[in-house]
Amino acid sequence: MEIIRIPAGIYAANCYLVYDEDTKEGIAIDPGGDVDDIINKIQELDLDIKYIVLTHGHGDHIAGVEGLKDYTNAKIAVHKDDGPMVRDGNKNLSSRMAMGTVEFEPDILLDEGDLIKFGNLSAEVIHTPGHTPGGISLKIGDALFTGDTLFAGSIGRTDFEGSSFESIINSIKTKLITFPDDTRVFPGHGPATTIKREKSYNPFLR
Ligand SMILES: [Zn+2]
Ligand SMILES: [Zn+2]
Repeated sequence: MEIIRIPAGIYAANCYLVYDEDTKEGIAIDPGGDVDDIINKIQELDLDIKYIVLTHGHGDHIAGVEGLKDYTNAKIAVHKDDGPMVRDGNKNLSSRMAMGTVEFEPDILLDEGDLIKFGNLSAEVIHTPGHTPGGISLKIGDALFTGDTLFAGSIGRTDFEGSSFESIINSIKTKLITFPDDTRVFPGHGPATTIKREKSYNPFLR
């Protein structure tokens, strides 16, 4: 498994390309803009992107979805509870962001425990609500992609409509920090971390 991080868009949301180096099949997680940068990387590595998977429906994570779909013809997958968000620029906040309104129809509505298969890899969908109702984390091998749920040293905001501080803490404590200490964590913004580091140092999880 290879993981490429491309901070994209005006809010520097991390877009991750995760792929199987044998088959070159992969997924793109959260293309938040700067589609040309993402496509250049896909071309450089000669990847076949099968799915565009969204950790949640916020504008800063989805602004590049349509451009990337046009190029890759990949299927767009989002948790069913954030489906209404990607269809509505007011709900996904893009109508109030600098990139302008982003609205599209997802191809696949995800649920807890779903497996997204590509190459010899599979991504397990872990429903981690709190930042948004349909927020997910993805477990692929020893890597955990946490979107805006868990950051290095912090957690996602819960002051949006539909957010819940209680839910995000519950999601992290019952579904994320239960993974082995050496699990690598790739958040929606900022640098990577590990479960062990977050258990030890994240002030929200003490
Ligand atoms: Zn967000
Ligand atoms: Zn974000």
